[in-house]
Amino acid sequence: MKQYKILLIIADGLGDRPVSKLNGLTPLEAANKPAISDLLKSSMIGLMDPISPGVIPGSDTSHLSIFGLDPHVYYRGRGAFEALGAGATLKHGDVAFRGNFATVNNDLVVVDRRAGRKLEEGEELVKELNEKIKEINDVKIRFYKGTEHRVAVVLSGKGISDKVSDTDPHYEGLKVLESKPLEDSTEALRTAEIINILTRKVFDVLNSSEVNKRRIEQGEKPANIVLLRGAAHYVKLPSFSSYTKLKAAAVSATALIKGICRELSMNVVTPVGATGGIDTNYNAKAKAAIELLKENDFVFLHIKATDAASHDGLVEEKVKAIERIDKVIGTIVDNVGRDNLILMFTGDHATPVEVKEHSGDPVPILLYVPYPIINDNVKDFNEKEARKGSLRIRGLDVTNILLNYSNRAEKYGA
Ligand code: ZN
Ligand code: ZN
Repeated sequence: MKQYKILLIIADGLGDRPVSKLNGLTPLEAANKPAISDLLKSSMIGLMDPISPGVIPGSDTSHLSIFGLDPHVYYRGRGAFEALGAGATLKHGDVAFRGNFATVNNDLVVVDRRAGRKLEEGEELVKELNEKIKEINDVKIRFYKGTEHRVAVVLSGKGISDKVSDTDPHYEGLKVLESKPLEDSTEALRTAEIINILTRKVFDVLNSSEVNKRRIEQGEKPANIVLLRGAAHYVKLPSFSSYTKLKAAAVSATALIKGICRELSMNVVTPVGATGGIDTNYNAKAKAAIELLKENDFVFLHIKATDAASHDGLVEEKVKAIERIDKVIGTIVDNVGRDNLILMFTGDHATPVEVKEHSGDPVPILLYVPYPIINDNVKDFNEKEARKGSLRIRGLDVTNILLNYSNRAEKYGA
């Protein structure tokens, strides 16, 4: 049996609800999609619950699930995945926190939770912290710059725990909190102690930093503390090829998704001009996918623009993004040849553009297969037609379905 190449395209936050600006159509319904329509003749379509019905997925938990890894096993909290997104490589057992650069007075009372919002010196401050705070009580400390005022902090060492409370008081006018153990264990007690020493050291380093002296001179608030929250143990992810036998590559410009794919040992490519935003270079992404399909069994193409438009409530931008993705699909299929691959197109969750946040709605999913199958005979690919299709699956089923229809699945049993 011929083994087919697999192309999985995820438009982040693709799913939607009827939009009043579109006279009750969804963006997927309103978009002109000639390439996708063309694939419908040999496709199954339907709905996917990325985690399970009604659960509102994050992009991280949803991608884990779609890659065949149960987030209830591998996901211990946002801290670890925020760190991956900020470029950290994590070891099993590391404890990671999400953090903010913030402004405090000398009594450690929070004056501004985001250090005046404008922080161009984040990179410099993180570098200084990494040079001056390397270890506390035999536990290695690393800082990673996130987007804007965000920073991730990773603890590596023996006998540490993620069962500790935040130092972020979450409101201005309150003192930075002492971290406390959240369970009766020596590991939690030891970790809370380390975090409290860390907070003090971070303040000492940042408060006397030249960067902050400069900021004060320029009339800006100093970024003189890091507020921590969301401690999470990192559970090592297996390589994607270890459980699928697929040689895999990913095309993405979004830090969090790239981090997850890297941890799964995929070859991660970010083409020039790909931004992870509305203005991303679609053609460069299509070309990258075409190149990678030559050398790999499985290529994952992630496009963030749909989610970015949804969070900003930009209806026309979301429709436009879907139309560009349709062109990407057309370009790749024409180039690789429609007889040579199976293609899945879906979202990692719904982000209804009028809600501007993720929702727990199921997302439409399309599976194109190049050989005769019982196809779903639907007229279009959108949230409404998807309800007439044959697929009704969870994110965790995706990888198995792709393996089966590409003739790469192994028999379960005798
Ligand atoms: Zn997402
Ligand atoms: Zn989102």
